[in-house]
Amino acid sequence: MSTLGRLEVAAGEGALAYLDVSHRFGAVHALDHFDLVLGQGEFLCLLGPSGCGKTTALRLAAGLEDLQTGRIAMAGRTIAEPGRSVPPEARRIGLVFQDFALFPHLSVRRNVAFGLRGQPHGVQERRVDEVLGLVEMSPWAEAYPHMLSGGQQQRVALARALAPEPALLLLDEPFSGLDTTLRAEVREATRRALERSGTTSLMVTHDPEEAMFMAERIALMRAGRLVQVGAPEELWLRPADAFVASFFGEVNRFSGRIQQGQVATPLGALPAAGLAEGRAAVALVRPEGLRLVEGGIGATVVERRLLGAVTLVRLRLADGGAATARLPGAVPLAAGERVGLAVDPAQAFVFPES
Ligand code: ATP
Repeated sequence: MSTLGRLEVAAGEGALAYLDVSHRFGAVHALDHFDLVLGQGEFLCLLGPSGCGKTTALRLAAGLEDLQTGRIAMAGRTIAEPGRSVPPEARRIGLVFQDFALFPHLSVRRNVAFGLRGQPHGVQERRVDEVLGLVEMSPWAEAYPHMLSGGQQQRVALARALAPEPALLLLDEPFSGLDTTLRAEVREATRRALERSGTTSLMVTHDPEEAMFMAERIALMRAGRLVQVGAPEELWLRPADAFVASFFGEVNRFSGRIQQGQVATPLGALPAAGLAEGRAAVALVRPEGLRLVEGGIGATVVERRLLGAVTLVRLRLADGGAATARLPGAVPLAAGERVGLAVDPAQAFVFPES
């Protein structure tokens, strides 16, 4: 079966499916042959650098942007194709954005009930109580938005989006307006609420740690295209290319050529299975993949910074090049000290030079 054929089958079963969607703003290709299928009840994060097309993908699913090329389906039903579009309000989609946009003059209860207008009062009240419980905000039902922290307001916004039981929840950088402590707390609460409700969710973020924490699967994008889709572990342990490996944090990068199935680097030879002999290659070693060992590869400490849980060590290697190590705990090293290094093979990757 062709790739598109297989996708069509998956799309029939998926809660949301993008099929060969391309979208341009003038000369900018915001989405370029974009294919993605979300399973029922799945939480998927669209991750990627600024401007890679994440928000465009979300806006197309929400119906806030007209589809130019391709098709978008929900539960096997086409909701958008060129020239034909199910109106946003008929898509059963909930939206959560960075600015919570709560009505300041309405209580938490009335804010959440807003999406339930037209339903009998008793039904509204029961559903509001249910979703406030889901986001752990029941004690604040009668409070007004100005009485709540940013994190609590975001949880109310989530409750409001979940109240009408959407078939799909779209979240666009929902935590980026919150400070670090609140963000961690609201991420946890959001994850718990969505697990309990079982709502299929697509969240946009540019923060790899946030995506790793929240998502069952991550779809990593670059320049309008998907680079790799998989569980957080898969992207971390088996990155598809150098972009994926480096997106999750700083990496040590060396260039070389494949010789006898290996590439020589100042940190020793790294295995390069499957790459053609003589081919130019790039070797990446995560800073957390370096550890100190007696008699290891010689290096000199240039600088040491304690970051809390880890110590960041800048090193000079035998060839004069630089490397960075992240060592667990507070490691007592002084500038100028000689150390021996070993590479954890699970944290080292070799790819063809592109
Ligand atoms: P960010 O994280 O910065 O929001 P993003 O990954 O969500 O980025 P998009 O907002 O989807 O990316 O934008 C993708 C590309 O399309 C960017 O180059 C952006 O400048 C461009 N773009 C998006 N919306 C418009 C628009 N309405 N008009 C013109 N260009 C646009």
